[in-house]
Amino acid sequence: MEPKPSNSIPFLPCAHCAQTGRCNNEADGFSCHQCATKTRSKFNLLMSKRKNMTGVVCSVCSGLGVVEPYTYSLNNRIRPALAAGIIAGSIGILGGALQSEHFESILAFSTTIIGAVTGFYFGGSNDK
Ligand SMILES: [Zn+2]
Ligand SMILES: [Zn+2]
Repeated sequence: MEPKPSNSIPFLPCAHCAQTGRCNNEADGFSCHQCATKTRSKFNLLMSKRKNMTGVVCSVCSGLGVVEPYTYSLNNRIRPALAAGIIAGSIGILGGALQSEHFESILAFSTTIIGAVTGFYFGGSNDK
């Protein structure tokens, strides 16, 4: 039920940071918990000790001040399906490769892909 963004308006102003790219949504101008946590996780060693943070990069728009609604929603919807599809495809190739004399090289190739895909899509930072 989301409105479909038209091509003439590729970006929407980020409501979270009011297009500043910096989050100061908490009282007294501090950055909100979500953005502060994301920044801390990126710069763990430097910032893990700081509690009240100001001016951290907006976690919604990554500091751009605008969000690209099409890409944004596309990524959120397609990514898991894409990863599952790649894994399923790799497993399918593996199944076919059982008859092949190149089974071992195909196995190595497929497991590498599966590992990379799962690591990239499921093992990385989960911002939600
Ligand atoms: Zn923002
Ligand atoms: Zn924030």
